[in-house]
Amino acid sequence: METEQANLEYPYESAPPYGTTMELAPGVFWLQMPLPMSLNHINLYLLDDGDSWVVVDTGIHGEETQQYWQKIFAEHMQGKPVSRVICTHLHPDHTGQAGFIADYWQATLLMSYSEYYQARVMSSLLRESSNWHTTEYFVRAGIDQHFLEQMRKDRDLFTPDVTDKPLPASFIRLTDGDLLKIGGENWQIITGTGHSPEHVCLYSQKHRILISGDQILPIITSNVSVFPTEPEGNPMLGWMESLSRFREKVPNDTLVLPAHNAPFYGLHERVSALIAHHEDRMLAIEESCVEPHTAVDLLPVLFKRKLEGHSRFMALGECVAHLHCLMTHNRIERRLENGVYSYLSVDPGLEQRATPGHHDAPDDSPLLV
Ligand SMILES: [Zn+2]
Repeated sequence: METEQANLEYPYESAPPYGTTMELAPGVFWLQMPLPMSLNHINLYLLDDGDSWVVVDTGIHGEETQQYWQKIFAEHMQGKPVSRVICTHLHPDHTGQAGFIADYWQATLLMSYSEYYQARVMSSLLRESSNWHTTEYFVRAGIDQHFLEQMRKDRDLFTPDVTDKPLPASFIRLTDGDLLKIGGENWQIITGTGHSPEHVCLYSQKHRILISGDQILPIITSNVSVFPTEPEGNPMLGWMESLSRFREKVPNDTLVLPAHNAPFYGLHERVSALIAHHEDRMLAIEESCVEPHTAVDLLPVLFKRKLEGHSRFMALGECVAHLHCLMTHNRIERRLENGVYSYLSVDPGLEQRATPGHHDAPDDSPLLV
């Protein structure tokens, strides 16, 4: 969803057209690839490593992105090969072409441990939406059969085609605190959790640049969801904690290179706005729960617009993520009645103190994969 734009500065007026690159700092290049959804692009980065290139994120599966990559290889890499492919996290817009690029150049894949293994089972998870665990999760959230069927169809769109190259069969593990030498400079690995289990960001003190993936985005908020595979998960708690760590570890005069929207300055303001946004949404949910509600009942508290396609699935996951975080802080209780969870706020004085306006969901833009 879209959040307030507090003091962010965007130094570049426009993005490089598909199939071209733009140099942002010595040896640091920005490129974009298309996405087949309302969020219509992803930012990828190329780092000059002397006699080869390091690719950070790869674009979604399918022929269109592959053709743009061929053009980049032929026209924008000065005849040098790709030696390493880094994926910030497992989502298909980041890992979709990792197999293709790694195979093409016999390049090494670098990912965190959790992201690599979850990516390898991602396709089967997407196909496994018919088991009783998944059905139980959605029924307990309060959804009806029609919604469930539609969501299954929507998710099929995100399942890679059998003709797409699978993720490489081996990888090198990235861990929080690692230093990668690229182009003679140190890039520090900083991990976060919540949007995905062990999301990798790259920070160069020398360049004053943070490649932030989906961990920190300037305009839209990253999806933070509870999934049927871990129905009692609490990703929102981890998300808020990891955002705070970036405020501590990375100086505010750093240029942030996100996976969506444009590069920006104002990291600390953005992190604070993101944390405040989720705290505000949690308060809005808590205040709505002075009467018992299901997760599905609460969707309009978080999202004003009609939810279509894949965004319905992510919206529900995000709603449950807010609810679980509120449960951890003992602000709401959950009851299982007739196979459906209902949520009720714990604070008896809440109704009198409720803040006018909190129930108005903000305007929201596309949710992320
Ligand atoms: Zn993502």
